[in-house]
Amino acid sequence: MSRADARSAKFEKYREQTLFDRLDAEDQVCIWEIVGRYSLSFQELRQLCEGGLDLEMWGEKSLHSWWQEAEEELEIRGQARKEKLLKAFRAWLGELRSAPKRYPETGLGKPESVSLERVVKHSERKVIGMCPVASEETVCCNLQTIDAVENCGFGCSYCTIQTFYGQSVSFDPELPEKLLAIQLDSERFYHIGTGQSSDALMWGNQYGLLDGLCDFARQRPNVLLEFKTKSKNVAYFLKNEVPANLFLSWSLNTPTIIDNEEHFTADLEERLGAARRVAD
Ligand code: SF4
Repeated sequence: MSRADARSAKFEKYREQTLFDRLDAEDQVCIWEIVGRYSLSFQELRQLCEGGLDLEMWGEKSLHSWWQEAEEELEIRGQARKEKLLKAFRAWLGELRSAPKRYPETGLGKPESVSLERVVKHSERKVIGMCPVASEETVCCNLQTIDAVENCGFGCSYCTIQTFYGQSVSFDPELPEKLLAIQLDSERFYHIGTGQSSDALMWGNQYGLLDGLCDFARQRPNVLLEFKTKSKNVAYFLKNEVPANLFLSWSLNTPTIIDNEEHFTADLEERLGAARRVAD
């Protein structure tokens, strides 16, 4: 077996343990060529694949373009050439990682829409639980959360909720009964949030969602019920009596982050305007 064939066989063995298959076609060809030319360790192959994918996600110069230019500029040969190229590649990635975040002037690409099928789903699941970050090893505010709806249509790029629930959003028809059945210690005070598995106000009062949550707050004066949102959807609270132990809070970000990452949310002015309307 030739040296190049042996390298290809080694690459095939390691390929599935890397992100190679998620790279675009030109970066894959580039890595194939690197593997044919140099002897790479598994860690080096992994770093190239991860680096290539990072560059793609950051909207930076691609791995294949960078590698081609770096190869053209370098005169030394042999194993030292590979070491030098990989060192320069790692250094460049490090520079990009530690640089302040920049967005293209035209903004990052935005999905056209988030289209979710609305589903009314009976389930045995409990609707209340501890915040997932709570543990004996964290300094915890003991927030509990009610999963009133499962999934969110705001499509924030950094949010994992969309990956949990796929292409549908589920409403629980037994939510009011489940809320009333929640066992709480009447001697204790509870802080409970509702925005764990969706934006708290995005869906308004669909399927009686806000009616059920407001009734729950009215019947549990020892609960402080928080609705955290990135929406401007406050019509329900302007038209209805709101229990005193319920409050709305807004997750805020800079206009740049909102424009580039929080795709279908209300913009900053709209969020502040909605908060103002409710407060007044
Ligand atoms: S609004 Fe909240 S729940 Fe919805 S996508 Fe954005 S971060 Fe996720």
